[in-house]
Amino acid sequence: MWITNGTQADWICLLANTSDGPVHRNKSLICVPMKTKGVQVARKLDKLGMRSSDTAQIFFDNVRVPKRNRIGEEGQGFTYQMIQFQEERLWGAAACLKAHEFIINATIEYTRNRKAFGGSILDNQVVHFKLAEMQTEVELLRSLIYRAGEALVAGEDVTRLATMAKLKAGRLGRELTDACLQYWGGMGFTNETPVSRAYRDSRLTSIGGGADEVMLMVLCKMMGTLPGMKQKGNA
Ligand SMILES: Cc1cc2nc3c(=O)[nH]c(=O)nc-3n(C[C@H](O)[C@H](O)[C@H](O)COP(=O)(O)OP(=O)(O)OC[C@H]3O[C@@H](n4cnc5c(N)ncnc54)[C@H](O)[C@@H]3O)c2cc1C
Repeated sequence: MWITNGTQADWICLLANTSDGPVHRNKSLICVPMKTKGVQVARKLDKLGMRSSDTAQIFFDNVRVPKRNRIGEEGQGFTYQMIQFQEERLWGAAACLKAHEFIINATIEYTRNRKAFGGSILDNQVVHFKLAEMQTEVELLRSLIYRAGEALVAGEDVTRLATMAKLKAGRLGRELTDACLQYWGGMGFTNETPVSRAYRDSRLTSIGGGADEVMLMVLCKMMGTLPGMKQKGNA
């Protein structure tokens, strides 16, 4: 399930159990060409949002590839994946910035032009105040992402900051697109405006690459507040 670009990919990078050892040390990363015997793209999933990106369900039946297709050391796949997640989560957060800003600006433009009850919708204080608040939140998110980006480039472990950035980007996306859609009124409920697409597409950030609750679990582990876990120092 859930394989982005799965219907059109030439190859897939997958994590497979390659031994019976402990769960974090029995996995390897393997590059598998999609034309390999036993790989079957079962279907393209029909999704709420991100409809311009295909997502596939794929089955594997007795698939064999040469050993040289393994990426890195055997048994280190989970560790590699956890390292990769920091960049993926930071990218996921960074990719939201322009989208968030675009929707704020589009909402300003629409509500400025839309006249109802004798004036622009934008001239209602609740509307322009909320948009200013949302812009402030976007700037705060940007600062966090830039700080994490600098730390990443400096070679530091950014698990904590990348996790926080992805959590915040997802939650802000939900709040911001919901608030903006409201100000578009009925037009916001149609599929003819960018705000309804943003509302649907932004929902994925709180799920993909690890759900919000998983981000919170990672942070709690690092804070030493997850039952049974000791605190870990981190950038
Ligand atoms: C469009 C799309 C594209 C994707 N592309 C890829 C891809 O290319 N490659 C890939 O590997 N994966 C991909 N995924 C998978 C994605 O990473 C997972 O959907 C995501 O990590 C959530 O896992 P899950 O769906 O198994 O949710 P589940 O594990 O079933 O969790 C369901 C919900 O339960 C809650 N939950 C889970 N754990 C906890 C907890 N410990 N405490 C409290 N609540 C909890 C959360 O609210 C969570 O959303 C994609 C998903 C989507 C929707």
